[in-house]
Amino acid sequence: MQTEVIIIGAGASGLMCAIEAGKRGRSVLVLDHCEKPARKILVSGGGRCNFSNRVMGPEHYISQNPDFVTSALSRFTPPDFLALLESHGIGYQEREEGRLFCNESASEIARMLRSECERAGVRLQFNCRVSEMIKTDGFRIETDKGIFTSESLVIATGGLSYPQLGAGNFGYLAAKQFEMRVTKLRPALTPLRFSPEDARVFGRLAGVSIASRVSQGDTCFQGNLLFTHNGVSGPAILQISAYWDQLSSLRVDLLPGLDIYSVLIEKRRSKTLLSTLLAQYLPKRFVKLWCDLHGAAKPINQYPTNEIESIARSLHGWALCAEGPEGFNKAEVTLGGVDTVDLSSRTMESKKAPGLYFVGEVVDVTGRLGGYNLHWAWASGHAAGQFV
Ligand SMILES: Cc1cc2nc3c(=O)[nH]c(=O)nc-3n(C[C@H](O)[C@H](O)[C@H](O)COP(=O)(O)OP(=O)(O)OC[C@H]3O[C@@H](n4cnc5c(N)ncnc54)[C@H](O)[C@@H]3O)c2cc1C
Repeated sequence: MQTEVIIIGAGASGLMCAIEAGKRGRSVLVLDHCEKPARKILVSGGGRCNFSNRVMGPEHYISQNPDFVTSALSRFTPPDFLALLESHGIGYQEREEGRLFCNESASEIARMLRSECERAGVRLQFNCRVSEMIKTDGFRIETDKGIFTSESLVIATGGLSYPQLGAGNFGYLAAKQFEMRVTKLRPALTPLRFSPEDARVFGRLAGVSIASRVSQGDTCFQGNLLFTHNGVSGPAILQISAYWDQLSSLRVDLLPGLDIYSVLIEKRRSKTLLSTLLAQYLPKRFVKLWCDLHGAAKPINQYPTNEIESIARSLHGWALCAEGPEGFNKAEVTLGGVDTVDLSSRTMESKKAPGLYFVGEVVDVTGRLGGYNLHWAWASGHAAGQFV
């Protein structure tokens, strides 16, 4: 079957690209090996889909070429996506730090994309396994559903995270097949794992959440840190995971915005137990474990200044030694991807194989937590959709 555009991957970026190309009158066929589209959208944002962010710029992305995103982001902005939602009557809300969520359910966005595809005359083929991609004048795609040919080919197969939702290494292999480079891939926006010894100690805190500031070098994030059975998670940890070099420990300020040294000095004549005072600021379970580990069971008036200093240092600068990130099974995204030196930032077309495009997470562009990854999927899909 001959078509003008074939898109492999019916996720956020592939569907957006298909809609835009279809609106230009191009004949578009989307192939996906899963039985339904947009599976990551459905689980995103805890089922409410954090689809974008009011505050958008290259500083919210990690890439070997930080400016690569500028062109696509400037041509498809958060208000553009909101206008699309509004035209479908989908309600949304803004939460902390500009994060935009659906009022009701992520499935509304999946439905909206399906309906836009229908309106643009896009054809979708599910349960379709691609066995071969051959560059001819255009492209010849061999699949278990037949052979398809096209002028343009778009790879929108996403990253490695959540293989249970259809993710795999197809896009990276495709890039290599066409002699494009792929940067180092690793899980990001992921919980971190403790060593087995630390997991035995801190695992007792599973479920405890502390408003913290977590940093690695000059990069820091403020938000909740959540203890799990074998490590730490929560927004502050997911954010820093994308920046952590995996060699040094992370610094955690467990009491950001409070100067615990001054508080203790002010109360230095008090007979209140240290644990009782700390429990005013930190969860009781954490305080109990922390006091056990530090042998800190005395009333405040029995602590000399040097011990108060050491308590403050420990609470404001806990050196968190994680063993590593959780794997791709629990990571929201893949850090790294198809090297942007081999792509046009305006069109997403390969510089090595004319007519071949890469969009979405498969590219070496990783957004911070907060709707930035989906917005990159929309913006890069939209950019390519104007040219395929
Ligand atoms: C649990 C979870 C929650 C998330 N929450 C958010 C959030 O709230 N906000 C946010 O911005 N980001 C979130 N993300 C990240 C975001 O979902 C992704 O970055 C985004 O979906 C990437 O879009 P994409 O189109 O590049 O890839 P995907 O949406 O992953 O789509 C890729 C498509 O390609 C198909 N495919 C893969 N391999 C093949 C193959 N060999 N042949 C055919 N088809 C193939 C897949 O089946 C899939 O349909 C979350 C991710 C996860 C895992």
